[in-house]
Amino acid sequence: MRLREFHYCWEWYLQSSPQALWPLLADTNRFNYDTGLPSVEQPGADAAVLSNARRRLRLLQLGIAVEWIEEPFEWMQPYRFGVVRRYQRGPVAEMRAQAELTPQAEGGTHLRYQVWVRPQNILGLIAIPLQVGVLSRRSFNVTIQQYDQLALAGKLPLELPARVHFAPGGRQRLVQFCETLVAQGADHDLVTRLATLIERGDDNTLARLRPYALADYWGVSRSAVLELCLLATRAGLLDFRWDLLCPLCRGSQAHSSTLSDIEAHVHCDHCNIDFEVNFDRSVELTFRPNPSIRSISEQEFCIGGPGITPHIVIQQLLQPGERRTVMPMLEEGRYRLRALNWRGHQLLSVSAAGQPEASLGIFGIGWPADEPDVALSPQLTLENKTDREQLLILERMSWSDQAVTATEVTTRQAFRDLFANEALRPGERISVGNLTILFTDLRESTRLYRDIGDASAFGLVMNHFDVLREIIAAEEGAIVKTIGDAVMAVFHRPASALRTALKAQQILSLPENGIRPLYLKAGIHSGPCIAVTLNDRLDYFGSAVNIAARLVGMSTGDDVIISARVYHDPEVAEVLAEWGEQVHAAAVAATLKGFDTERFELWRMTRVALATSEGQRHQR
Ligand SMILES: [Zn+2]
Repeated sequence: MRLREFHYCWEWYLQSSPQALWPLLADTNRFNYDTGLPSVEQPGADAAVLSNARRRLRLLQLGIAVEWIEEPFEWMQPYRFGVVRRYQRGPVAEMRAQAELTPQAEGGTHLRYQVWVRPQNILGLIAIPLQVGVLSRRSFNVTIQQYDQLALAGKLPLELPARVHFAPGGRQRLVQFCETLVAQGADHDLVTRLATLIERGDDNTLARLRPYALADYWGVSRSAVLELCLLATRAGLLDFRWDLLCPLCRGSQAHSSTLSDIEAHVHCDHCNIDFEVNFDRSVELTFRPNPSIRSISEQEFCIGGPGITPHIVIQQLLQPGERRTVMPMLEEGRYRLRALNWRGHQLLSVSAAGQPEASLGIFGIGWPADEPDVALSPQLTLENKTDREQLLILERMSWSDQAVTATEVTTRQAFRDLFANEALRPGERISVGNLTILFTDLRESTRLYRDIGDASAFGLVMNHFDVLREIIAAEEGAIVKTIGDAVMAVFHRPASALRTALKAQQILSLPENGIRPLYLKAGIHSGPCIAVTLNDRLDYFGSAVNIAARLVGMSTGDDVIISARVYHDPEVAEVLAEWGEQVHAAAVAATLKGFDTERFELWRMTRVALATSEGQRHQR
């Protein structure tokens, strides 16, 4: 017997805009957690994923096992999302939920939340009006009002009332570790903020702390928060882990607590693709409290909602031959339309001057090759002309800049000092994207040893390493290795490398109280590199590294040789402006040993003021 369907329609007039509410409401994992719904499980990873992101899920509520197939969530940012669950076990036969956010002329949002539930049996008939009609309605109301207040204040859900479970002795350890951090020189205010977050934050937030997102939210330096998190990990307050992100869904497909456990190839169950891990995109460093302070639950409350993949603005399931019109709100930039189980994609650019309407979709064998330009709020007609169902996905191409990538963190001196053992498994090679490599070498060091004797010369050379180290760390770079008197350092940005080289030359060539001046040869180049482990430490190789190593040989010790790629970086122009007349730039054309066929455009950055005074004091 098919029992009658219950239909609930709840409405709210909220003060925040749909865009402000979307990140909270559409984060269904958080919403289900905040509204007290039970956690869900996937029975066996392989069996759980069905066609087009359908999933087999289950939960336990009041001792009753409930199992269902979840259809893919469908949404259109920031106006609509919904899902259908078809149950195989439990008191319910089918449930559909849909949220619609309509902007109001006077500002604010009309939120309509509808739920349709069909019972499977008498138990369902009795339970649904209580569970959904009374309990969910009440908890949804409380949570939605809280979200509206948060969204209105531009806040993250860090300050929602949370169920907090400290480990035995956890509170005392928190206080103790924070004192240690402050004693080690960490910023008192930042330590207090972090301690408050660990003390009051909910599991959902604390399970994946992202330092840059916290820094942006607190309005403080990203670098300071990242370094605090690293220091706090050393102190035992936090743990870090490397999340491996799929390039398509950008979900965390695996994670590991050390770089040496990272494999170069990973499979994404959701997208059903194998992908190659690289440090600049697919490996993100996140933090969580150490279990000796607070144990953070790993439970999931929703697996496939829009909040899991915030870069996907539209996800729609289209039957063969189906056509559907959507009107999302987009940002300027590039987008990609693809289907989960269909090769290829179509690119789209979005701009204020773009077309107000466009027809998109799979029109036959492949995708159209053009790249239409559409408006910020376009009317898009999606069409599936294939003979099978397709899950169409429209996604933003740009990645969040709030991720601390492995490339970025492993090129920091603080990271390399605190976690010297973090290296790749021997033999593993992982692309790290673009790095800037600085090589330095002391000019005439043989003569130095002869002139002042081995012991004094050695002291001077060691001292020069300290000077370099300090400047490199301050510029957010890291020393990879020293080879004799030479140093190889890496930076995330070219400007930091140039600033380091110029500053180090200046300090070393004009030492205080009669110490012998040193002249530092320097060469800088940027380009893609590969990370490897050499002598138990993280090292880099690739032709970008080889070129940088050649450039240092062309330096006289009063100048820095930089490649055209470094010279033309927009931030390098700022460095040159800072140094003004003190640095003179001149183009040099050269062929490099080992790269004979290529002619390189190089730039010699000569420190003018210094070259003159030095010439008078120290005859070469
Ligand atoms: Zn994926």
